[in-house]
Amino acid sequence: MRRRHPWIFSGAVDGVEGDAAAGDTVEVRSAEGEAMGRASYSPNSQIRARMWTFADEVIDFEFLRRRVRLAIDQRAQLGFRLPGDTRQPRVETDAFRLIFAESDGLPGFIADVYHDTLVMQCLAAGAEFWRNGLAEALAQETGLRQLLERSDADVRELEGLLPRAGPAGEGVASSVVISEHGLHFKVDLEHGQKTGFYLDQCNNRKRLRDLAKGRRVLDCFCYTGGFTLNALRGEAESVLAVDSSASALALAGENVALNGFSEARVEFREADVFEFLRRLRDQGRTVDLVILDPPKFAPTAAHADKAARAYKDINLLAFKLLAPGGILVTFSCSGGVDRQLFQKIVAAAALDAGVDAQIVEQLSQGADHPIALQFPESSYLKGLICMRQ
Ligand code: SAH
Repeated sequence: MRRRHPWIFSGAVDGVEGDAAAGDTVEVRSAEGEAMGRASYSPNSQIRARMWTFADEVIDFEFLRRRVRLAIDQRAQLGFRLPGDTRQPRVETDAFRLIFAESDGLPGFIADVYHDTLVMQCLAAGAEFWRNGLAEALAQETGLRQLLERSDADVRELEGLLPRAGPAGEGVASSVVISEHGLHFKVDLEHGQKTGFYLDQCNNRKRLRDLAKGRRVLDCFCYTGGFTLNALRGEAESVLAVDSSASALALAGENVALNGFSEARVEFREADVFEFLRRLRDQGRTVDLVILDPPKFAPTAAHADKAARAYKDINLLAFKLLAPGGILVTFSCSGGVDRQLFQKIVAAAALDAGVDAQIVEQLSQGADHPIALQFPESSYLKGLICMRQ
């Protein structure tokens, strides 16, 4: 608390006065009785309270509105512009994270912009309690009327909350076409993963373009084709893209057509990546660039061991498939595996694959997913570009 970390764990609570219910605002006091700020209470969660503020301010609609405004202004300064805002600088994308929960001073609340549509997620009791106020603050401050809710992430269970998803308004489109660095993607806002698109990989997808030229690319965990399309734009010789989700692959196919790429250069496969990589290895196949962007294997440090084995497995197989001079672009979005551990796992994978490789670049989440210095948990996406020698 003194370091301004926003979470209060159950074991740190000496006692609760009064009869606070889920989502209620509570005053937080130190053991000495000193006022420390205000938090949202969550009786069912191990994270018993999340700090709204460390100051003496009232938590009400105006408070939420100030925080929303602050996030919008900060994004604008970084070049993430709402529709109609033509000022410079501007990042060449119309889809980005507008509010990143604790990092933006709104614990458990996420809001993403997809062209002219907002998607919000309430992932903690406090955000759930203030749901209508947050929706209204978003509408007022962005001027966007199209709002969808995707409060259906698993973490809600830990807060004792049931899933809720659907349009939060009239005439809200369930899918939208976004434009990211000149490429168009159709996004399924209603049924897609997360809020529809992996916005945190925006810069990294662009980066891949410069590496793909003339290479045979293998895009593992391709979802709706984010890296695949960038590889095609970067003049990859061919792209083989794998995912276990049939609906994601269907959308990936649509996205290839939407951007006018020839289907001859790309092949999609519905498969389990772990098995698929083994099959390619057994066939003695080689490729020049592998992307590994798996789902979260370790949500918390408690899952780190099992996750480490899974990361090692796919990275080892990827190194084996790489031709000399080949490139591995490998990611982990697991909060329970930090950058240092991830690098160790990748190093162990190269060693066991009998391959010499260098890290030539380190990657991270985009600036629209800021990392609060007092909340290291908000730093979750790490990537390495490795080159086989
Ligand atoms: N690179 C993508 C995002 C990948 S998200 C982008 O930039 O848009 C992770 C993907 O892994 C999801 O699409 C999910 O369907 C897929 N997935 C999860 N487990 C899998 C497995 N064992 N084999 C293949 N795909 C898997």
